[in-house]
Amino acid sequence: MHVYIHVPFCARRCSYCDFAIAVRRQVPSRRFVEAVLQEWATWQSHPAWADSPRVETVYFGGGTPSRLEPAAIGALMEGLARHRAVATDAEVTLEANPDDVTPEAAAAWRAAGVNRLSLGAQTFDPTVLGWMHRTHTVEQVGEAVAAVRAAGIHDLSLDLIFGLPAALNRGWQRDLDQAFRLAPDHLSLYGLTVEDHTPLGRWAARGDVVPVDDERYATEFLAADAAVVAEGYDHYEVSNAARAGRRARHNSAYWRRAPFIGLGPSAHSGFGRERRWNVREWSAYDRLLGVGATVVSGSEELSDDAVRLEQTYLGLRTSEGLPRDHLPPDVTRAWVQAGWARADAGERVRLTAEGWLRLDALVASASAA
Ligand code: SF4
Repeated sequence: MHVYIHVPFCARRCSYCDFAIAVRRQVPSRRFVEAVLQEWATWQSHPAWADSPRVETVYFGGGTPSRLEPAAIGALMEGLARHRAVATDAEVTLEANPDDVTPEAAAAWRAAGVNRLSLGAQTFDPTVLGWMHRTHTVEQVGEAVAAVRAAGIHDLSLDLIFGLPAALNRGWQRDLDQAFRLAPDHLSLYGLTVEDHTPLGRWAARGDVVPVDDERYATEFLAADAAVVAEGYDHYEVSNAARAGRRARHNSAYWRRAPFIGLGPSAHSGFGRERRWNVREWSAYDRLLGVGATVVSGSEELSDDAVRLEQTYLGLRTSEGLPRDHLPPDVTRAWVQAGWARADAGERVRLTAEGWLRLDALVASASAA
């Protein structure tokens, strides 16, 4: 079993973000712990535990989990373990913003069992950080990395965003080089998307910002692929690269379609064909649990076609790819001829970086064939 805990609190909303967050100056850490553990208790009778009795990974995502009081992470880990065995070698990841990482916080996270930290660096350009409405400075990224390592958390991932508007003149290669200098074990590289109802969406609608064009987006994605491979990383998923042995176990479980429980507002859960998701807003989540009501706002049972589509999409995202017989032979042949896939080992079809650039279109064409 894999457990995700969505911590919705943020200091402010980043310009591009449409996640389910709650902007709070004062984070209600104690109430959050109570609420999540109350939800956790409701999961204990779920039949999925019969096949997956142990917690193998825990992921604190957000929002900004590092905004919780550090002791809250320990309280949550203890609360999880009161009901279920957590593997002694469980991967426990915490997402953090650099300005929240102090030596004291890092030590408390480590004591709570956190052994992997995912740091939202995004860029090393101070002007671009300001444009993104990020709350941290460039210097705080390096300081955070040092504090995390000094506390004994040795599995470190950095997030970077590419595909920014050309007018920002962001030096993508320069940012990659700065990231490499910090020697992270793992890198997550996300392309910027312009979502409605975000500051960026409004800027774009007004014409104040021109989103990146396809050519620049592709150039940056392919440059990142070449750079991480040249630095010895394994580009093992469309947005993720890792040193040997440092792939993200939690996220890899999603891509394998392993069972997972999501706790907290907007969290999703899945086992086999069952999918369910929680109410999106913290205020609704808090209120419902306060009166003993369910926080589940929707669920579905995947059809055979939906399962197959999910397998196609998740398989093609990763460097493991798909079994060859999952795709029609003429589709595989066309992709290989175009340079979008490799079928060299004979048994599996894996997308190339050029193929990953077209992931959604290729999944759609495979499903239609
Ligand atoms: S810190 Fe993360 S979750 Fe919070 S507003 Fe920024 S991008 Fe969104």
